[in-house]
Amino acid sequence: MLTLERFSFGVGDRFAHQARAQLRAFQMLAARGVEVVPVWNKSNREHTFIGSEPQSVRTAAEAAVVALGWTGSWHVDADHIRIETVDRFLPSSDFFTIDVADSIGRPAPSAEVEAFIAKHPELVGSLSIAGVATPFRTTADDIRRVAGKYLLAVREAGRIHRHIAERKGGEGNFIAEVSMDETDAPQTPPELLVVLVLLADEGVRAQTIAPKFTGRFNKGVDYVGDLARFEREFDDDLAVIAHAVARYGLPSNLKLSVHSGSDKFSLYPIIRRALARSGAGLHIKTAGTTWLEELIGLAESEGEGLALAKEIYRQALEHVEELSAPYASVIDIDRGQLPSAATVDGWQGGQFARALRHIPGQPEFNPSFRQLLHVSFKLAAKKGRTYLGLLEANEEIVAKNVTENIYERHMVPLFLGRTVG
Ligand SMILES: [Zn+2]
Repeated sequence: MLTLERFSFGVGDRFAHQARAQLRAFQMLAARGVEVVPVWNKSNREHTFIGSEPQSVRTAAEAAVVALGWTGSWHVDADHIRIETVDRFLPSSDFFTIDVADSIGRPAPSAEVEAFIAKHPELVGSLSIAGVATPFRTTADDIRRVAGKYLLAVREAGRIHRHIAERKGGEGNFIAEVSMDETDAPQTPPELLVVLVLLADEGVRAQTIAPKFTGRFNKGVDYVGDLARFEREFDDDLAVIAHAVARYGLPSNLKLSVHSGSDKFSLYPIIRRALARSGAGLHIKTAGTTWLEELIGLAESEGEGLALAKEIYRQALEHVEELSAPYASVIDIDRGQLPSAATVDGWQGGQFARALRHIPGQPEFNPSFRQLLHVSFKLAAKKGRTYLGLLEANEEIVAKNVTENIYERHMVPLFLGRTVG
């Protein structure tokens, strides 16, 4: 039975050149006594934009594992797959993020909703859950509404889960995550409970679940929202999961997966406290920003690397609308804050790096500049060998940035509890 450990951390490597630099961060953390399992994830959308194949993720990860002598577990996540996109990930992935967000809210047959309510009278009324301050109070109508909203999404998760299990030789041969984060409305803790009961009934042996949390999770920048409210909901979600595991027989290692969109630094102390209090596990995806560290490293290399970084920015400025469109709900670019191409052309590498590197409070850091470049990786992909050649020529400075970013800005505050500027 393939079982995910207590702590796992998803990294993305769009151009398949940084797996070693990423893995080094996990080794540094292990040397400090905290074992966190690396999971390399890449979605179908990213593969399509880059023109890569799923096997390339496993190949790069495997090479890094061998090169660094990593003896712990590691996984390759088919990120945000659906029934129509899962097949080409089957040979190379052992972790599947089953995305059913599109089926949320599709009206479910009322007979099936009523059958669910009849089977679970315990969900109606006052429900005390260990660790939740105020008991949930629900009416049959509340459960009817929530079950009606999520029932078909859970059925779809079941269909995809069975599809994978048949082709992987059984459900013990892969790790399943169910993701519901790419949708409009967050799931409240009582809604999460109903979803978990639906999943248990459907026989989906999920080891991680990714709800949509309250607040905004923009790509590559910090959380925007009410921190106190996030903390309450996160704590209640952990309690709900523990309850659902005990009561409904879900896998005992089931844990929350935070699709962070990278760099939710202000949430890290909250998450750290919650995990320490509850003993719960965590899977966190911070996938997108390794590519920005590549750009930072190229800029710092001055010369050709900096010239290419500037050229990518110039092209990004010319195509702000089309580059942003697929990410409209997860970026907030203030056009007035974007420096002109001429301005950036006059920058030294260090200045480009300081505008891009995410150090909150550092006066030159520019979140709009960062978000635009974050969604502009397609432009680097178009450069093909030129881009990859520069990564290779400047491997040392790029790798240093990749490792430091993951270790200092993510792992240290999450797992060691020290904030780093
Ligand atoms: Zn996600």
